[in-house]
Amino acid sequence: MSILVVGSAAFDDIETPFGRAEHVLGGSSIYFSAAASLFSPVRLVAVVGDDMPEHAYDFLAERGVDLGGLQRVPGKTFFWAGRYDYDLNTTETLTTELNVFADFQPELPADYAETPFVFLANIHPGLQRGVLEQARAPRLTMMDSMNLWIQTERDAVEAMMRRVDFVSINETEARMFAGTSSVVAAARHILGLGPRGVLVKKGEYGVVLFTEDDYFAAPAYPLQEVYDPTGAGDSFAGGFMGYIAQAEAVTPLTLKQAVIYGSAVASFTVQAFGVERLRSLTRAEVEQRCREFRRFTYFGEI
Ligand code: AMP
Repeated sequence: MSILVVGSAAFDDIETPFGRAEHVLGGSSIYFSAAASLFSPVRLVAVVGDDMPEHAYDFLAERGVDLGGLQRVPGKTFFWAGRYDYDLNTTETLTTELNVFADFQPELPADYAETPFVFLANIHPGLQRGVLEQARAPRLTMMDSMNLWIQTERDAVEAMMRRVDFVSINETEARMFAGTSSVVAAARHILGLGPRGVLVKKGEYGVVLFTEDDYFAAPAYPLQEVYDPTGAGDSFAGGFMGYIAQAEAVTPLTLKQAVIYGSAVASFTVQAFGVERLRSLTRAEVEQRCREFRRFTYFGEI
């Protein structure tokens, strides 16, 4: 089944201890679409300026992503510059230039309103709400956010958490949001607001899924070289939701498998700068890595 994603499309400047990339295609909706489209049809709603070459996102169209909701307007594309130190789990934002993103009003084309799966990637929570209001009875919704909105728009972020089925959030943001040092307490706090599940992303330590009566932890794939963690969270969400949208039913087991698929896709993302690795990534490569996850997390019957 189809997934609707609304989020940022960007030019990114990225600096890590292993190199730098300038003015590369990025943005939460782009990483998500690249990942989710390996599994399910994706409809993308975002905005770019007229400085974004159309061939930059050709690879998404080739993978079947519906770009009918991608607005192209006069002006400059959203620009983000970030830096990571040796602790690749911490992102330092150097510059954020909203540009055309400042006036972005996500409008769902008529045929998008009934999309069964909806992912609200990292954008202003007010825009996320607007999208949810245009969506007609989605089967499953999920949101992401970031420290900026948790600090400046806390009430609006909380209101969104009360409305969606799944919340994806990184460990630091979860602690910040809930005002506790315990990730478990933070996840329980968010669950208390109403979502069915909370996915806490812990960078190189993996991902944890909390539901009312269950807990599932997946390690990160053990990589010797992580070149650029940008987009790991969004591509995790894309793999997770892409997998769920092609499953027959959303059972507790499907959710656990989806966590592994999301982790596998994210592990490829971080092996190159920007979206480079996602451009060529195949479903077969993801399947192979999922089998490796199974091998290194299986410890027999006890
Ligand atoms: P992630 O590493 O998965 O958290 O997401 C990285 C992407 O988020 C980058 O490609 C950025 O362009 C994008 N991004 C950074 N800041 C913002 C923001 N304030 N709003 C929307 N997207 C952003």
